[in-house]
Amino acid sequence: MHQSMCRIQRGPFVYYTCRRLPVRHAFTTKSGGVSTGHCESLNLGFNRGDTEENVRENYRRLAQAVGVDEQRFTLTKQIHETEVSVVTEAEVGMGLHKPMAWQSDAIVTALPDTPLIGFYADCVVTLLYDPVTHTAGVCHAGWRGMAGGILPKTVDVMAEKLGTRRESLRAVLGPSIRQECFETDADVPEAMEQQLGALVQPYIQEKGIKFHVDLQGIGVKLLLDAGLQPENVIDSGICTMCHSDEFWSHRKTNGVRGVQGGMICL
Ligand SMILES: [Zn+2]
Repeated sequence: MHQSMCRIQRGPFVYYTCRRLPVRHAFTTKSGGVSTGHCESLNLGFNRGDTEENVRENYRRLAQAVGVDEQRFTLTKQIHETEVSVVTEAEVGMGLHKPMAWQSDAIVTALPDTPLIGFYADCVVTLLYDPVTHTAGVCHAGWRGMAGGILPKTVDVMAEKLGTRRESLRAVLGPSIRQECFETDADVPEAMEQQLGALVQPYIQEKGIKFHVDLQGIGVKLLLDAGLQPENVIDSGICTMCHSDEFWSHRKTNGVRGVQGGMICL
């Protein structure tokens, strides 16, 4: 785990934070909610076979634990694409209190008191914050989104639409499946190379007929190339599959699982 990461426990509620993000934020774990069965207990997904009532109560508990307004939770739509949307007052609450009007795996905002949340159970959720312009974002990337360049695209949208400064922008790559556990066939490294070029080669390991891709390493590299300073790009270093006692891992559970959230709020 990166030295700036903290594990916070408040009663049954467990989440992770990063000292480099001086705003309300959290990478949630399985613990602290009311769901049961394979979604026990802090499942934040409405499409995981959980009851809607439980999921809504879990959001209320998250809001209470982290000190944000539950009415203003605004959610990403996770379809492994590379759309990035700016959250204005009209979109606040989307995904939880009003229908989702976007197809965006990443959302960004300059609005205060607006918790943005993206979801993970092996995928990389990155929280972004610029202390100079006071702007924030959340970006969900599995290997498809990473290959499609959604992370640097999120930085570009923040810079162009919100005036975010790349030199001061901070990014924290949350708990996610890491290279030693992320075994794939040739399709993943091939897609990576096809879309991102030779820069991905140092992050791909061949083991027999299988491949191990360092998604976080690629993410960090893409963020640096997008203009972020090395000290402002933090890889949490936590593997969801190695720590499946604390996190849902899609791989570990064969997809029978709840889902965690990475949340940030100005
Ligand atoms: Zn692992």
